[in-house]
Amino acid sequence: MKKETMGFKGGFHLLDAYPLPFCTIIDEISSDGAPEQFQFPVTGQKIEHVIVNLCPTEPWALPNWVILKHKTAAFLSMLKEIKTSYFSDARFHLAINEKEDRAVEDAVNFARAEDWIKVIPLCAKYPQDDPVILAQVLLGMDVSFGQDIKSLGILIVDAQTVSAMYEQGIMRKDVNSRYVVLSGTGLRENEIIRAELGTSVEKILKNKVKDASTCRVFMNGPLRGKEISDFSQKIDWSVNNIVVFEEKSRKVLFPMFKADELAFTTSLLGELRRCVYCNFCDDICPVDLEPALYYHSYIRGEKHKARLYNMGKCIECGLCSFICPSKLELLKIIRECKALDKHE
Ligand code: SF4
Ligand code: SF4
Repeated sequence: MKKETMGFKGGFHLLDAYPLPFCTIIDEISSDGAPEQFQFPVTGQKIEHVIVNLCPTEPWALPNWVILKHKTAAFLSMLKEIKTSYFSDARFHLAINEKEDRAVEDAVNFARAEDWIKVIPLCAKYPQDDPVILAQVLLGMDVSFGQDIKSLGILIVDAQTVSAMYEQGIMRKDVNSRYVVLSGTGLRENEIIRAELGTSVEKILKNKVKDASTCRVFMNGPLRGKEISDFSQKIDWSVNNIVVFEEKSRKVLFPMFKADELAFTTSLLGELRRCVYCNFCDDICPVDLEPALYYHSYIRGEKHKARLYNMGKCIECGLCSFICPSKLELLKIIRECKALDKHE
């Protein structure tokens, strides 16, 4: 069994640092219009490898138990039907959190009698489940950030997408809703909801936010997701979670070590300081980059020069911004420099 994953230095054990308790009652929320439909993720491309990601690495992501319901063998039987119907020539790779002992044992027992699937228990260190890292670790393939990996014959799906593929593709049922995790210090409680596709963020968060005037809202997590200010936007299948943080009016020094608070996101509070050359960002980067170099080029006005230092390899995991004690928004700088390509 693998422990620390090969070819993957850096990273951070977010799940250990920020264990989030969830209310187990699942609220159902309907959209105001006709709900949108789940789109089967493959239409015509030849798929050689299907990676099933049962190794979420972020505390605000949908946990496996919501879909698997602790019945891993039943889940894998569904997967087998999907394979037979849609991916008969593909190899399946099941990436599973090595700490979920029962699920790992069930998966290994199931796979003993099957030659189409390989079970790979992994350390759930963030960002192990990033497509670039998964392809590298499981298939030994170099995939570029943002590349259409289906064009390389690789499909990566999570547990919820497998379940939707089964419902729609095998059971011939409509799939027009999904589970979304709501968490963060700005909410009254952390919870999991089931929302129709097309429901607005505003409707989802109604009566759940402590104080809407002093919070920041992130779709798909504060690290690699996006902060949003337009709450009329509607959720689609890509929205796994919504995180709401209370804006702090006091300085939070070394917030990454405060395990009881997800308070590490903001640098809008006069906390911004100079780079102190601590190298934390270099050490944590999972693809061996030196984010401080980007920052120093950027503040000298040399955005184009910043891109020379392998910036294209950055997988936008956000760990450098997360760990920086000076609260420098390194990922924001990286995205701005990368975007120069598109404007040229
Ligand atoms: S956002 Fe990019 S540079 Fe920063 S830690 Fe992640 S991969 Fe490295
Ligand atoms: S983590 Fe922040 S302060 Fe430390 S070297 Fe990187 S940019 Fe500078």
